Amino acid sequence: MSESLVNVILPLPLDRAYTYRVPPELDVQVGSRVSVPFSGRILGGVVVEEGVPRPESGKLADVRKVLDEGAPALTGELLDLSRWVSEYYACSWGEAARAALPPEGSTRTQLFATLVDDADASGLRGIRQQAVIAYLTTHGSTPVADVVSATGAGHATVRGLEEKGFLRVTEEESLPDEVSAGSGTIGVDRFHPTQRSAAEALAAALADKKYRSFLLHGVTGSGKTEVYIDALQRTIDQGRSGVVLVPEIALTPQTVRRFRRHFGAAVAVLHSRLSAGARFDTWRRIRRGDYRVVIGPRSAVFAPVKDLGLIVVDEEHESSYKQFEPAPRYNARDVAVVRASMNDAVCVLGSATPSLESFQNAKAGKYTLLSMPDRVPLQGGGSAKLPRVQIIDLLAARSPDRPDSVLSVPLQNAITRRLEKGEQIILLQNRRGFSPVLSCDTCGKSPECPDCSVSLTWHKPRNQLRCHYCGRSFRTPSECRECGTGHLEPVGAGTQRVEDDLGDLFPEARVLRMDLDTTGRKDAHDDILNAFGEGNADILVGTQMVAKGLDFERVTLVGVVDADAGLLFPDFRADERTFQLLTQVAGRAGRSDLAGEVIFQTRNPRHPVILHAKRHDYLAFASETLATREFLKYPPFVRAIRVEFRGPDEPGVRLLAERFANMFGRVPSPLELIGPAPAFVARVRKSWRYLALLKAPRSLSGARTRQVIEHVVASLGRVQKGYRINIDVDPMGML
Ligand code: ADP
Ligand code: ZN
Repeated sequence: MSESLVNVILPLPLDRAYTYRVPPELDVQVGSRVSVPFSGRILGGVVVEEGVPRPESGKLADVRKVLDEGAPALTGELLDLSRWVSEYYACSWGEAARAALPPEGSTRTQLFATLVDDADASGLRGIRQQAVIAYLTTHGSTPVADVVSATGAGHATVRGLEEKGFLRVTEEESLPDEVSAGSGTIGVDRFHPTQRSAAEALAAALADKKYRSFLLHGVTGSGKTEVYIDALQRTIDQGRSGVVLVPEIALTPQTVRRFRRHFGAAVAVLHSRLSAGARFDTWRRIRRGDYRVVIGPRSAVFAPVKDLGLIVVDEEHESSYKQFEPAPRYNARDVAVVRASMNDAVCVLGSATPSLESFQNAKAGKYTLLSMPDRVPLQGGGSAKLPRVQIIDLLAARSPDRPDSVLSVPLQNAITRRLEKGEQIILLQNRRGFSPVLSCDTCGKSPECPDCSVSLTWHKPRNQLRCHYCGRSFRTPSECRECGTGHLEPVGAGTQRVEDDLGDLFPEARVLRMDLDTTGRKDAHDDILNAFGEGNADILVGTQMVAKGLDFERVTLVGVVDADAGLLFPDFRADERTFQLLTQVAGRAGRSDLAGEVIFQTRNPRHPVILHAKRHDYLAFASETLATREFLKYPPFVRAIRVEFRGPDEPGVRLLAERFANMFGRVPSPLELIGPAPAFVARVRKSWRYLALLKAPRSLSGARTRQVIEHVVASLGRVQKGYRINIDVDPMGML
């Protein structure tokens, strides 16, 4: 038999495949993951072609191992999709394939612990044993490894409980009763009219089995999730599968639970906080065809489902759909549309505040717009209205007896009223820590991170200064290091400061804080949200985490401590982000028959973004902002490409950026170059950053745009060691 040769792509920025020999004892197919030697290292790659002819010159190395057991890791469909990703997002095919590959893990079967229903655990005295029981009570069937790491109990404790008959340990996850399929949903016959027309439009498209994309623009609480469930059920009934993307699993437990309740064991949840082994196991079972619906964050857009019929992208405007590091720097929302089109599938992008890109695509007829402008009418016949929003001018409304409080008198009064009625409150302050800056009362200087060009944030509980870019932390000095005499005074407010003020003003209120600092532990999100949902707290204070899809009936007041926080960034998306955040957080109030109220505190009470958000007027916001974007030639009217130059010293990075600009000037192309200029945060983790923005006309294809950029980069020759040029197509921002 003649020798067998294959082409393999590697997860490096090399834009070609390499040929290897396959030893006869290995079973290799297109899509198989293999390990191969490459310039002195062993790398994991993917086979993209079999039976290739021997190249003219050079010695060929052997494929060392096949890493898959059974079917190849990547199906032909996912290979094609990753190839598209590499072309559009300007990275190598091997880098793009990395996003579609299963999580690192082994096929060792996982052991799951499940509580035995009628076991009476009240007599157990061991703290560890109780912790395990409590954990399984709230979490249901869980991998033993996760139980052990979450509770601090040993494997012996788990085994002991199994021997005593309190729990079962099995190789497969067993589903608790509450997730049996087919319950807990509204059902089409009870859909209200706009919900019904949206559902019918999707049903018709699914019945056609041809590609179509929809933008489902529905205000918060309009019943979008029910529409997704209906469309998914139809997909399953056709014998096809669906994928649901959510911005972050940990922040949307309520939504995930609703899908679980309806589809039961047919749903796989790709939870990024599961152990690698557990994620791999889920991936393997998806590949095997065990599930009909997959829910997950952005990477789930590559889930290896069979017969894809529907992809839903919930909260499609969310920036977490965009991957920054490493390449591929893809936006899962846009990949979802492409994947649907490659599979004759339907794609639904849903949001109360669609991204301007998607909205423009709907206006241009690329997507079909479905609108649900009203909240779902209430059971009792009343109508859940969008909450009334009041704007408080911070410069006019300082608290006279407490001029230093971050809560204005009207907000304080509103909190008092809600506390008296036993209702709940959400306060948004989109900044963690106590105060973002400490400033010397004598010389005015602020302590900065030695590795990043940003002020350090004061974290009061441990009296630390922390860098929110690189994570380094320092003891807070007792006097200013610059002048040696002055005192450092806090300037501005973070979530800890809001929590502190609440403690002073409402000592009897029970306050929970949710931000990156309180949610480091696995399940911390869930614990905080459960505690709040069960009424064990009156006020939830947090960063943008509290603005996401939370649905708590007793929340009647939402306060935004500083509505201006996001407006000041030098970024073309600053307005859009602020509008989305304000609208989304406002949507948390008044979701039941208790009327809701929202207060925005601002220093810019006449700012159009704040006024549009006050009126819940997405359409006015969108048309105004799109007009500005068109005039200034920003996305979605051009394709933006952010070019980042990085390196260990400022002059070197500047030189690299300037050489790029010069070279660009010499290559005739329809692209326009803005910059380069030092980044807003010019140094992160000791690495200097310059940025340039390229604007490509929409009429220029992605492939052609990429060619121009690659030509310029290639003409620069070899970039010095330690320096890098990162290309980000459709960047989320310019920071
Ligand atoms: P969204 O996803 O747009 O925020 P949801 O799908 O969460 O909206 O719906 C909001 C609430 O209204 C949920 O509690 C949901 O169960 C309920 N709901 C949705 N559609 C209907 C309907 N047709 N009749 C009654 N309740 C509904
Ligand atoms: Zn730093």
